Amino acid sequence: MTRPYKRIATEEAFMAPLVRDLYSRGIARGAFGDSGFVRMWGTIFTDKNPFIEGLMDIGPLRLAEMERAGIDMHLLSQTAPGLQVLDRDTAVGAMPELNDYLAQAVARHPTRFAGLCSIAPQDPAASAREIERCRGRLGLGGIMINSHTNGEWLDREKYWPIFEAAEASDMPIYIHPQTPMPGLSEFVRQGMEMAFYGFAVEVSTHMLAIIASGALDRFPKLRFVLGHLGEGLPYWLYRFDYMQWHLTRPGIPARPEPRKLELKISEYIRRNVWATTSGMPAPEPIRFAQKQIGEDHVLYAMDYPYQNEPDEVAMTEEALTDSNRKAFWEDIARGLFHIDGPVGA
Ligand code: MN
Repeated sequence: MTRPYKRIATEEAFMAPLVRDLYSRGIARGAFGDSGFVRMWGTIFTDKNPFIEGLMDIGPLRLAEMERAGIDMHLLSQTAPGLQVLDRDTAVGAMPELNDYLAQAVARHPTRFAGLCSIAPQDPAASAREIERCRGRLGLGGIMINSHTNGEWLDREKYWPIFEAAEASDMPIYIHPQTPMPGLSEFVRQGMEMAFYGFAVEVSTHMLAIIASGALDRFPKLRFVLGHLGEGLPYWLYRFDYMQWHLTRPGIPARPEPRKLELKISEYIRRNVWATTSGMPAPEPIRFAQKQIGEDHVLYAMDYPYQNEPDEVAMTEEALTDSNRKAFWEDIARGLFHIDGPVGA
């Protein structure tokens, strides 16, 4: 029986050999200090790591796993933290080779793979040029940014050239977690600082800070994609709007006062933010997110190879109705990420 829709999974990681070499060499010479990155990745190239084989393969193993799960296409992205832990010159130098590698992998299986452009926010102007090249010459349909860049938040105006290029090229920015900001392991305690809970705290804070900075008044057509069902944001809409109003009332001692924005926080989230399900297949939260930010803003991701659970596909199906099923699995991803051709085997 053929399904009347294709399944596109949109937060699917790979590791380019070039990036693996840069990480290995940097770790070997102590370039990353005692960072979260080293705690997470320091042993991956020496131990028998459960993910490295799946990350390195963009071919038979991945296609077999997709078959097993009933997934027709992976939207590929270089796994976190991408180029964002490297020094500026190394990151900028590696950017074109990494994106060319991805574009070649997509070209070998154009009905099974699409890709997100990697950038080096260490150099916003060079990243802006690479975004244009990724869209125009390489045909990639979106951008991956892995949370902070060497400890800097994304709401700084120095990153606006990236937002400007993304908006002009109609390239959505997927904000993915990476090993946490310094301090987050103290803030999110008891071993929960990474995928357990800390990733959601960090990425949702990035998104809110970008909204609160006024960036979406300057770039109203800019689109962001968050994994993990929007990193908790759909649950908070009422309180965001209440506090945005409350904290600017006369006599309320908020310092600094929130910036005046053109819209309510919830209106930016409904207009500019999309949520993928990566690793969050429970039906009730999916329906809730659809209700809060719109059925046209919630789409599928598996989070391969980190949470490669074929059973979760059936669980996810339970959340959907016949009227939104095709949109969730296929059409929203096609529209967001410029996936125009045939999809599937
Ligand atoms: Mn992921």
